[in-house]
Amino acid sequence: MPLFRKDPFGRAWVLLSPERGLEPSAFGSVPSAPERSPLSPESKDRVGPEIAAVRPAGSHSGDAGWRIRALAHPAQLVSSRPTEVDAGVELFQQAAAYGHHEIIVEHPDARQRLETMPVEHLTEVLRFYRERIALAAARPGIAHVQLTRNVGRAAGAVYDHPYAQLLAVPVTNRWVEEEVAVAAAHHAAHGRCLFCHVLEREIAARERVVTQNDAYVAIAPFASKTPFETWILPRHHGSSFATVASNTLPALAELLRAVVRAINDALDYPPYNLMLHTVVEEGRPDYHWHLELLPRLTNQAGFDWGTGFFVNPTLPEDAVRFLREALAMQEVRA
Ligand SMILES: [Zn+2]
Ligand SMILES: [Zn+2]
Repeated sequence: MPLFRKDPFGRAWVLLSPERGLEPSAFGSVPSAPERSPLSPESKDRVGPEIAAVRPAGSHSGDAGWRIRALAHPAQLVSSRPTEVDAGVELFQQAAAYGHHEIIVEHPDARQRLETMPVEHLTEVLRFYRERIALAAARPGIAHVQLTRNVGRAAGAVYDHPYAQLLAVPVTNRWVEEEVAVAAAHHAAHGRCLFCHVLEREIAARERVVTQNDAYVAIAPFASKTPFETWILPRHHGSSFATVASNTLPALAELLRAVVRAINDALDYPPYNLMLHTVVEEGRPDYHWHLELLPRLTNQAGFDWGTGFFVNPTLPEDAVRFLREALAMQEVRA
C-alpha cells in the first residue's frame, strides 16, 4: 500500500510506493514509434480505462473519434479508495496515499506536440485540464492537485505522445506550500498579491518579459533555478486554475505555443517539465496560479541537493534575449 510520510526535518511529504518497485521505463527506454504508442486510439496495448473524453456526441467510451481523453494512470501512485493508516506519532507522521492519478491524452495522434497542435485544439486541451482539475480538487480530503507535463525521457516522460499527468493528493506540494506561505506574508504586510506585484514590476521594466498578450505574460523569473526557466502568469488575479475564465484560454494556448516553440528553436528541443502551480481554494487574494516551464539542460548535482540552492549558469536576462530572437524569427517565418 502506498504511503505518505512527513519529513520530520522539513516541509516535504515523501510518497513511498514500494509495490511499484523499480521499473526499467523509469530510467529511460527506447522511444516507441508513433503508430505503436500505447496512448493511440488504434493501440492494442490498452492503457486505461477511459475516465472522461472530448468526443463527438453519440459516441461512447472506448470508441474511436475522441479528441482528448483522461485515462486511469496505469501505474497508480495513489490508491483511489480512502484507506485507514495510523497517523503516526509526533515525530513520525504518515498518511494514506489516497487520491487520484490520471493521464490526459491531449491528441489522438502521437506525432503531435503541444506546439504543433492548432490553437483551437490546445484551447480545448486547456479547458479539459480545467474540468479535470476542478473535479479532482472537489474529491474529499484533497489538499493539492498537480498537473505536470513531462517531455523527453530526461524529463521523466514515459510516452512519446502528447500527454499530461494529473495527481490529486491529501498532502501539500512543498514548493507550492512555500510559495503560499511567502505570498501570504507579503499580502499581510503589503495588502496585495505578491505575484501581481512582481508582474507589475516586470511588465514595467520589460527586462525579463519573454512575451505577452492581453491576458497572459511570460517571464524569466528573477531567480531562475535552471537555464531558460519560464513562467506564464495570468494578468488578472486568480488563485485556482479550476476557475480560469474560458475567454482567456485561447490567449493562454497561443502564448504557451509561442513560448515552447521559442525554447525549441533556441535550445533544439530540450526535455522539459511544465508544471501548473495552483491552490484548490478559489478566490484567495494572496495566491496567483501560474505555469512553470523548466527545461532540463543541467543535471541536478549533489551540490544542489546538498545546499538547497540551484546552480544556474544562465542569467534570466540572457535567456530572455535568446527567446525574444527566436520569437521574432517565428514572426518572420509566419
Ligand atoms: Zn495576483
Ligand atoms: Zn510556482
